[in-house]
Amino acid sequence: MIALVKQSATDEQLAQFIAWIEDRGFKTHVSKGDHDTVVGIIGDTTQIDPFLLESMSIIERVQRVSEPFKKANRKFHPQDTVIDCGYGVRVGGGHFVVMAGPCAVEGTNLFEIAKMAKRAGATMLRGGAYKPRTSPYSFQGMGAVGLDLLLEASCQLEMPVVSEIMDPRDVQLFCDKGVHVMQIGARNAQNFTLLKEVGKTSTPVLLKRGMSQTLDELLMAAEYVMSEGNPNVMLCERGVRTFETRTRNTFDVNAIPVLKHLSHLPVIADPSHATGYTRYVRPAAYAATAAGADGLEIEVHDCPSKSYSDAAQALTGEQFADAMTRIRLIRRAVTATLEEE
Ligand code: PEP
Ligand code: MN
Repeated sequence: MIALVKQSATDEQLAQFIAWIEDRGFKTHVSKGDHDTVVGIIGDTTQIDPFLLESMSIIERVQRVSEPFKKANRKFHPQDTVIDCGYGVRVGGGHFVVMAGPCAVEGTNLFEIAKMAKRAGATMLRGGAYKPRTSPYSFQGMGAVGLDLLLEASCQLEMPVVSEIMDPRDVQLFCDKGVHVMQIGARNAQNFTLLKEVGKTSTPVLLKRGMSQTLDELLMAAEYVMSEGNPNVMLCERGVRTFETRTRNTFDVNAIPVLKHLSHLPVIADPSHATGYTRYVRPAAYAATAAGADGLEIEVHDCPSKSYSDAAQALTGEQFADAMTRIRLIRRAVTATLEEE
């Protein structure tokens, strides 16, 4: 349930109203916009009589929120969430990010890749140190040493890093090392223990959509993180598994406007895993940008054929630079204001 508070309400009246709600065992989520203040009421709100709330002098209107996701819901927080990822990089509310780098951190070639990515305009460095591989015999990632390399590159180039976390026991390590954004991969999209654990931190989380996860389920996964106290969640569309075999996954471009309609959280698209082939990554990146994504995550490698993982979908530095030029143009077109004749 949400209560829209009148503009004339004082801070003291608002505080009294919140105390009144919380005294009755409910949690509240207050969102103060430029014009409106929305108080989200979380709990079994069937116990609350909306007419009673509407009779209070500071309440403009009361509305039931039928969706089970509350903190992630745009009704609770009408304005876009803007997340600070470090080094002045912000995402959401008109701030666009491009996360680029190798699938996995493989060694010191990371520095070359990071420079290449930054030169072309990437604002964040990606790289997996812990890799969720289908086969236990495949390269599993460099682990903590990989995180150290990422953070060294981050420091040299003054750009934040995003890296996948697979195990709740590693949350402290990621926090101690100062990883700027923790990625929850598609395979862990409903690992509720992991979601709750990253929710206890304030580190931004890039939450990927599971292979066959509905958008409502993705939003409920975000709710797990947010309900523990971490509001800094980005949602990521990375393709879903369908009957199609010509691409690694099927990129659900619809997910971008749908998620932005339902939620205030930034929406990132990953055209690399969504398509699985280098030749399709750029067109999917352009589609995502045009559809209003708040950012992209793209795999880039100094020598794609030598990638330890996901070689078939990596872009070269040159391909990535070309993509960035066009992405900038598309962003300009999408955000331009059209003058009506
Ligand atoms: C990745 O980003 O390298 C990755 C494994 O992604 P996903 O979880 O989307 O498959
Ligand atoms: Mn990958």
